[in-house]
Amino acid sequence: MDCKQAVREMHEFLDGTLTGPKAAALKEHMLSCPDCRLVFQQLETTDALVKSMPRPSAPDDLTDRIMGALPQSRKKASWLQWVKRHPAISVASVFLLVMVSSFLSLWNEDTQMTVKGANLDQLVIKGDTVYLPAGHKVNGDLMVKRGKIQVDGELNGNLIVIDGTYALASTAKISGETRVIDQALQWLWFEMNEMVGGLAK
Ligand SMILES: [Zn+2]
Repeated sequence: MDCKQAVREMHEFLDGTLTGPKAAALKEHMLSCPDCRLVFQQLETTDALVKSMPRPSAPDDLTDRIMGALPQSRKKASWLQWVKRHPAISVASVFLLVMVSSFLSLWNEDTQMTVKGANLDQLVIKGDTVYLPAGHKVNGDLMVKRGKIQVDGELNGNLIVIDGTYALASTAKISGETRVIDQALQWLWFEMNEMVGGLAK
């Protein structure tokens, strides 16, 4: 046994984990080696000192404070854990994403003019322009999408113009509000409100 190994094994010996022939070999080396004997004595003194010191007791909340101070980024793939914890919200988010993207592609493909209303027979449609002539009256909301509307008559409801334009003559009377929706997302919001309103009826 050399001195390096002896010093290494001294720690084990003091811990009480070095037994049998190994412990005997260490003792034998120390008997013949004054240097190691001195090191052992110093270690023994230090060991005894440490053991005699009162054990500092950690505050009860120390563990929680340390865990709380650890950066969150150490958790791997935290979004995955979030998905596992909130399956319903995650499914709803994916559903909404698919709905919005398919809606947006619909919005870009659909270029035809659409007219919606209760009394369409009161209207005159020429090309991409819808006329509500003077002396004619439409009861209820009137919606024109991707077109122009010229109002000379009376509208007893709201006028909704989606991605289009409108013109009101001096003879025009609109009892409700006039809304122009020219953004895809605004229209999405409008359609969703219509859908929710329809479901509520
Ligand atoms: Zn030695």
